[in-house]
Amino acid sequence: MSSVMELIVNPKYVNKFKQGYPLVHKDSIANLDKLKEEGSLFHLVDPTRNFIAKGYYGIQNKGVGWVLSHRIGEKIDIIFFKEKISDAMKKRESFYKDSETNTFRIFNGEGDGIGGFTIDYFDGYYLINWYSEGIYSFKDQVIRAFDELTDYKGIYEKKRFDTKGKYIDDDDFVKGERGEFPIIVKENGINYAVYLNDGAMVGIFLDQRDVRNVIREKYAMDKNVLNTFSYTGAFSVAAALGGAAKTTSVDLAKRSKSKTIEQFSVNGIDYEAQDIVVMDVFDYFKYANRKDLKFDLVILDPPSFARSKKRTFSSSKDYPTLIKDAILVTEKNGVIVASTNNATFGMKKFKGFVEQACKDTGTTYKIIESFNLPKDFQTSSDYPEGNYLKVLFIKKTS
Ligand code: SAH
Repeated sequence: MSSVMELIVNPKYVNKFKQGYPLVHKDSIANLDKLKEEGSLFHLVDPTRNFIAKGYYGIQNKGVGWVLSHRIGEKIDIIFFKEKISDAMKKRESFYKDSETNTFRIFNGEGDGIGGFTIDYFDGYYLINWYSEGIYSFKDQVIRAFDELTDYKGIYEKKRFDTKGKYIDDDDFVKGERGEFPIIVKENGINYAVYLNDGAMVGIFLDQRDVRNVIREKYAMDKNVLNTFSYTGAFSVAAALGGAAKTTSVDLAKRSKSKTIEQFSVNGIDYEAQDIVVMDVFDYFKYANRKDLKFDLVILDPPSFARSKKRTFSSSKDYPTLIKDAILVTEKNGVIVASTNNATFGMKKFKGFVEQACKDTGTTYKIIESFNLPKDFQTSSDYPEGNYLKVLFIKKTS
């Protein structure tokens, strides 16, 4: 006899779950009102009550829970967590051994078998991102599993769900020794200053590693580079080390300036030879047009959604406009790097945005390179939306 809650899957979703789809959407369940406490386990059953899979309840923006196993007898306990984390670590062995890189993702949610949390490695420190209160209720198992599997300097966490003021976050520290921030991590030999104790964004987005690398290796030499939505200027640093003639970083957040100076400085680059502009990107494009500024390499990496004083930007609606603005400041034979992390549309639609922007401006172009998530951001073929990153290198041929 099992006292586990049974969630009845609506008929049209039964096959999807049987085939391995891991995310439980609200509308796929007939008796969702049964779910009370986040973190509780359930069985997904078909309308005739046959077992399909088991999972946990946790509210995220994308769904209300994740499938954990298709085996009815599998226990969701410390051994379960330990196996998943251990498998994930083994898959990253080549990263642990890489002497040029000591920061990468070691656990990527559903891609590593448990949706709802990720773990990143920063030179001996681990950072856990929890995306729901439900998965957070398994924290003890995860940490214990972790303790049994590996040594570390310290563990930090980010609760990326609504905590309704229940938790008092001091500095996101969990266990081990506290870091002295910034710690300086290394990615393909480039230094980056990272703060694990200062908000959700730690200073570098690890999913862009391959893009930074190719910019440095193939696209930067002697080029005049514009990096928009530049945050701490990580792309600018890669470009400068790749021999860029000059970089211009544009971000409207005031602290992006000191953060970018810091990233240049920890790499021995003279930041005074670079431009760091605190400005709304769309205003910068107007300014650049007035001054007739042109660039050889223009990087676009906006957030999926951003609201500033003057406007809201939604990448699923406004990306074509952004590309059009970029085209106007790009030299002939220059390259636009268009990136998006919006999971609500795929590569096909993104390429459609490029097509539309080029058509509207009478520009001919060629896509010369494209990227999705790097290898350590393991994704599952059962959940293609999990591969949210799309990056296109667009050469403006006229
Ligand atoms: N490209 C960066 C990450 C960008 S994060 C990297 O590789 O590290 C998104 C950034 O966009 C944030 O720093 C935010 O301040 C900035 N931003 C959002 N809206 C903006 C706007 N309208 N103009 C300029 N910057 C903006």
